[in-house]
Amino acid sequence: MSDFKQLGLSDSTLKVLEQIGFEKPTPIQEQAIPVLLKDEATDLVGLAQTGTGKTAAFGLPLVERVDDNDPSLQALIMAPTRELGQQTAQQLVAFSKGQKKLNVEVVYGGASIMDQIRALKRPTQIVVATPGRLLDLIKRRAIKLSNVKYVVLDEADEMLNMGFKEDIDEILSHTMEDRVTWLFSATMPREIKNIAKKYMNNPVEIAVNKESEVNTDISHQYVITKTSNKVPAVRRFLDIQPEMRGIMFCRTKRETQEIADDLGNLGYGVEALHGDLSQSQRDAVMRRFKQRSMQLLVATDVAARGIDVNDLTHVMHHKLPDQLESYTHRSGRTARAGRKGISLAFINPREVRQITMLERRVKVKFEQVQVPN
Ligand code: ADP
Ligand code: MG
Repeated sequence: MSDFKQLGLSDSTLKVLEQIGFEKPTPIQEQAIPVLLKDEATDLVGLAQTGTGKTAAFGLPLVERVDDNDPSLQALIMAPTRELGQQTAQQLVAFSKGQKKLNVEVVYGGASIMDQIRALKRPTQIVVATPGRLLDLIKRRAIKLSNVKYVVLDEADEMLNMGFKEDIDEILSHTMEDRVTWLFSATMPREIKNIAKKYMNNPVEIAVNKESEVNTDISHQYVITKTSNKVPAVRRFLDIQPEMRGIMFCRTKRETQEIADDLGNLGYGVEALHGDLSQSQRDAVMRRFKQRSMQLLVATDVAARGIDVNDLTHVMHHKLPDQLESYTHRSGRTARAGRKGISLAFINPREVRQITMLERRVKVKFEQVQVPN
């Protein structure tokens, strides 16, 4: 096992990592950090799934490379949203703490541009920015890119999805020819290849565990139905597949109980599992579920967390989870141990976009199905 020490990071960075509790590099960090620390800086394209530590993969080398004795802006990080930008800036500050005196600013749309202009008047070595606002600031001459040596396009696929392509083009035209460019993304659509070709110079390409999380035994399906029609729709699916056994995920305890009651009152083998039940009630529900005396367990994400049942044919989503990443955890309840399974989401017409986002984010393909007659 390689650890952070082998990657060429400075002793002071290693100390910081120890303090913030990063014990072992993630695969993208393990591969990208040594490349980005090389004396002769190179361009790089790094591909890795969401949540695999891409920020530190570029952030640690960046903090080492930026000169804190030089007050000029040396690094520019573009991010798709305010939240992602703020998170990145926070991590950079944490990485530099106690070893370098760096000033990191975050700028984004939807907030006072005057405040941001004022903040940028202070010596600032690193700016994290959403493309639209950054372009505004460039046009108002509130930011000078002439000393920028490092440009990071973070979450590049998301930025393109949000329509920032032209802004990015224009921003890059304001930076120096001899800058280095690091691009990080969860996916590699053609537009990203185009950006790499157009703006990067023989980039090193690193791709780790693409699609490793995807269980190909799961068929991902969705049904479009009005919220008020969801229970009748679920009934149809239960009717035509009496041998089905599954979990239906709901977002709230109340919803969980109501749906289980509605279906139970209609004579279906359905029960609820959520945090308002006592421990003994929960144990009894789980016992009946395992003994197959019910067809469908209706549960909240939290209550279902510890459930270990191997032969579920279906996972249903009464609503998609707030955190799209939870979709993987939910759907992973079916198709275990080499069996096939179906993950079926009930969505209302306004939520179709979430399916597209899920396809991108979790890298699965969905098939639209109809409510059986
Ligand atoms: P990505 O950009 O790939 O989606 P992030 O860089 O946002 O992922 O990292 C996700 C989370 O993992 C963050 O909370 C980060 O602090 C944490 N993290 C990153 N690298 C490590 C590591 N080597 N050890 C422990 N936690 C880490
Ligand atoms: Mg990221």
